[in-house]
Amino acid sequence: MTLASARILVVGAGGLGCPATLALARAGARRLTVLDPDVVDLTNLHRQLWHRTPDIGRPKVDSLAERLQAAFPSVQVDAQHLRLTEETADSLFAAHTLVVDGTDGVATKFVLADAAVRTGVPLVYGGVLRWSGQVMALVRGGPCLRCLFEEPPEPGQVPTCAAAGVLGPVAGWVGGLQAQVALEVLSTREPRLGRGTLHVVDGRTLRWRRMEVRRRADCACARAVSEVAA
Ligand SMILES: [Zn+2]
Repeated sequence: MTLASARILVVGAGGLGCPATLALARAGARRLTVLDPDVVDLTNLHRQLWHRTPDIGRPKVDSLAERLQAAFPSVQVDAQHLRLTEETADSLFAAHTLVVDGTDGVATKFVLADAAVRTGVPLVYGGVLRWSGQVMALVRGGPCLRCLFEEPPEPGQVPTCAAAGVLGPVAGWVGGLQAQVALEVLSTREPRLGRGTLHVVDGRTLRWRRMEVRRRADCACARAVSEVAA
């Protein structure tokens, strides 16, 4: 599998999806699917680099696809103006080589993480809020999001970027880092950045921490691997 032939699904055309698609296209990715149900809002513009003021009210996937293809004519962008759901997640994952999580909202991140465990398609989880961000690759044999957090928090317990805000450059940093991790996962069987390492960045101090995440023996991701082995 080469980067040019990899089919990469980016879920979210916002603060993480915009810088991630730019970095992936620059690196040589040629087949990108981008999913997002939202339209461009004025408050998106400081961090969502493919959208401009005249795009306000347009589907985000349309402005992203238009500008990305103008900048990189050889990239095929499949823009889908819809929301990924529990019902559609597995078939979307199965149709791609790797998935990048550019969503805003914890519940959807668990939907993505669980689909990655079920299908075995690698996911590069990312999250950003206010000044800080997180990135971790979920690959078969490594820990998943439930090894890290166990259960999704109750609705409203964790604020979204839309509600709490995010520093624009931190979103660019985290989205670019997700692309970097994705490139490593696609290019090697033994990723050093990925598999069980949670990267945590802090835009106030510019500190970067790496945390090794252990797989919980009773987690669904451990069962999924033993079922494949059997
Ligand atoms: Zn797990």
